[in-house]
Amino acid sequence: MNSNAIDNDRNIPLMDVKRQYNTIKNEINEAVISVLQSGMYIMNTNSDSQVVQLEKMCEEYLQVEYTIGVGNGTDALVISLRAAGIGTGDEVIAPAMSFFSTAEAIAIIGATPVFVDCNKNTFTIDVEQIEEKITHKTKAIIPVHLYGQCADMDAILLIAKKNNLVVIEDAAQAFGACYKGKKAGTIGDIGCFSFFPTKNLGAAGDGGLIVTNNKKYACAARAYRVHGSGLNGAYVYYDTMNIEDIESKEGVLSKYNNFLIGYNSRLDEIQAAILRVKLQYIDQWNERRRQFAAQYRQSIVNNDIKLPYCSNDNLHIYYTYVIMSQKRTQLMEYLDSQGIKTGIYFPIPLHLQRAFESLGYQEGDMPVAEKIASNSLAIPMFAELEEDERIQVINCLNHF
Ligand SMILES: *Cc1c(COP(=O)(O)O)cnc(C)c1O
Repeated sequence: MNSNAIDNDRNIPLMDVKRQYNTIKNEINEAVISVLQSGMYIMNTNSDSQVVQLEKMCEEYLQVEYTIGVGNGTDALVISLRAAGIGTGDEVIAPAMSFFSTAEAIAIIGATPVFVDCNKNTFTIDVEQIEEKITHKTKAIIPVHLYGQCADMDAILLIAKKNNLVVIEDAAQAFGACYKGKKAGTIGDIGCFSFFPTKNLGAAGDGGLIVTNNKKYACAARAYRVHGSGLNGAYVYYDTMNIEDIESKEGVLSKYNNFLIGYNSRLDEIQAAILRVKLQYIDQWNERRRQFAAQYRQSIVNNDIKLPYCSNDNLHIYYTYVIMSQKRTQLMEYLDSQGIKTGIYFPIPLHLQRAFESLGYQEGDMPVAEKIASNSLAIPMFAELEEDERIQVINCLNHF
């Protein structure tokens, strides 16, 4: 027994990436060692590149034309926005409750995030409040599939079509989740994933993925991840905007033809090798999360606690299991005293972040997002959570 197992006798973690590693240790070790032995540490466009092979696997799993491995989920958003031609002076609509980088990505490229409050049931962007925020400067909407549940994509696509907006899904918390049978990330124009270690599909370091069915966006994104270079014929796209030309020139232009100011944001070969192993387990792991969520839903009964809502349109993968309580601080302290670790996603809504002070939002502007920030609590949820641990979580919540 390692020391981790002993710790776990006393504490129930919120998430535990070490346990997952231990279940597939040999496969992961082999994958990592094979990269080390290959001497190929940075992706290239050869078919033996781990990144290229992972992209193929993801294209198949997600049923999408193009996937582009990048350095992290934040860069996936930044590069997607730029690939869609969005920049200085543009406005991009985003929900007020998300991880900071959803809004950060918009601001980094010189655009302005315009926040919309959340739906009071699902906590994803409130589609009823999007249209009133659209101006002549609005270029895109970034719905966030918060906690592993997709936003109301049909309504969002309708609004986008009517107003000629690009839809970039922030699916960082939702790898493998579905909306009306479609995989998260593949429903809008572009989808972004994060492979941050604690995400439901996580690497052993940073990683991210852009997915799209749009060849122009894919070419531009491929160029942006390698210094805006002409690899994959993306050069041609910007010169002519002609798809046939891209196809005929694909691979012809050399690495040192740079036509855009891009980024150094490739997905790492070692991370890609690890993710290729993990992708084989993702459905199994997501299914376990769903089962544990069903067990929580059935067994947690306490008037001071509200359980998460899942709409019928969604296959929720419960990246986090978020409950609501007006007595959050007491609840958190009580659970902690019982060895149960919890987390808050996220304690400050985006419109009230100091970094966005200049946008002029006030407390009270986004009541639902603010309530999530003050009342929500994530309880232990990961595929390797043991039965006795789940029962202890349930008992403590019922006893509180
Ligand atoms: C994790 C996360 C990101 C950012 O991903 P990184 O890989 O950490 O850059 C973006 N959006 C959401 C909703 C996230 O949860």
